[in-house]
Amino acid sequence: MNQKSIEKEKILEELSKFKNQDLNYSDGRILGSMCTCADPLAKEVFCDFLDSNLGDPGLFEGTQTLEEEVIKDIGRFLSLEKPYGNVLTGGTEANLMAIRAARNLARKEKNIGNIDFDEYIVPEVVVPKSAHFSLEKAADILNLKLVEADLDENYRVDVNSVKENINDNTVAIVGIAGTTELGIIDPIEDLSNLAIENNIYLHVDAAFGGFSIPFLKDLGYDLPSFDFSLDGVSSITVDPHKMGLAPIPSGCIIFREKKYLDIMAVEAPYLTSKEQSTIVGTRLGAPAAATWAIMQHMGRDGYAKNANECMVNTEFLADALIKEGFEIIIEPELNIVAFTHPEIPTDDLAKMLEEKAWMVSVSSYPKAIRIILMQHIKYTNLIDFLECLREIKSSLNIR
Ligand SMILES: *Cc1c(COP(=O)(O)O)cnc(C)c1O
Repeated sequence: MNQKSIEKEKILEELSKFKNQDLNYSDGRILGSMCTCADPLAKEVFCDFLDSNLGDPGLFEGTQTLEEEVIKDIGRFLSLEKPYGNVLTGGTEANLMAIRAARNLARKEKNIGNIDFDEYIVPEVVVPKSAHFSLEKAADILNLKLVEADLDENYRVDVNSVKENINDNTVAIVGIAGTTELGIIDPIEDLSNLAIENNIYLHVDAAFGGFSIPFLKDLGYDLPSFDFSLDGVSSITVDPHKMGLAPIPSGCIIFREKKYLDIMAVEAPYLTSKEQSTIVGTRLGAPAAATWAIMQHMGRDGYAKNANECMVNTEFLADALIKEGFEIIIEPELNIVAFTHPEIPTDDLAKMLEEKAWMVSVSSYPKAIRIILMQHIKYTNLIDFLECLREIKSSLNIR
């Protein structure tokens, strides 16, 4: 670090060099991200609330009310009148909180995972093979065993496989509404029934799908139920910083009952609140305020329009790729297209695209080029992208 202060102008100039090395969503070439440019209003509000600390809510009662309203509004579109939860840093933290709640409850109600018992029973969580890696982190942090259930031929979790993997030590099962790699919605209704039959906590990871499925359903899209309308669902993760158009970081955990927060609460001696259930202590209020603002600004109609536009582009891209001789892994359910070419190894194709400044990502199961049709990707970008694929094919002498 420098000894003496450097003047503002010089710092900003230096910073712009770094910023110029970053990519911009607005260029329309980031094809493999679940995030997108935040709305300008949300960014403005975010900066306004940079001093607010939800870790000490008695000092920031206004911001705390905004957080409560965000949770209430999200709960409403997830079919829950009286939701409990928090605005967090993202899906990772939300999933961690859900699994922690399930683990703590099992400690109390089932004597699983209690550290003061002579014999420590390792609690188990059954997740789909398609689960986000954040659940691996949660299992590691919470000292749980993660058990992977198989997928069916449509890449949805096989409910029989989940059932077979449930045992006396299972503290939670997880279903996904919009998988990270393919955007597939698991059969949550069947998982809900399974959870009720076995008296097990069901967490739904809708980090990606939570801000689109309800609104696409409004428009008549034929998508399955995944929310609190299913009695077995105890908690849902939703990421406003993905399809919710909120600035990073914003992810929400929504619980059906207050007891899930209470079971995690620890005393917070020197603060204005008596106890804390969140993992993070000093906690920025800006994400709650910015998420509140963008939700007000978009409204249900705005989110429906956004999700629909993304789906129109998704369907266009999927059809065009098939016409160009590519193979679609599965008919898209949400705004993700995963594809391969029978004659081009997927990693090679990804590399060639990157050399031409198209930032795609590669899915692991199955291996494929994965395009997430977020709102920053426009029809004209897709036309250019398809042209690039044609060039790559002809350079390889593929028709
Ligand atoms: C993105 C994602 C996560 C992780 O969310 P972060 O905001 O990156 O922490 C978890 N689950 C699913 C299904 C996701 O798509």
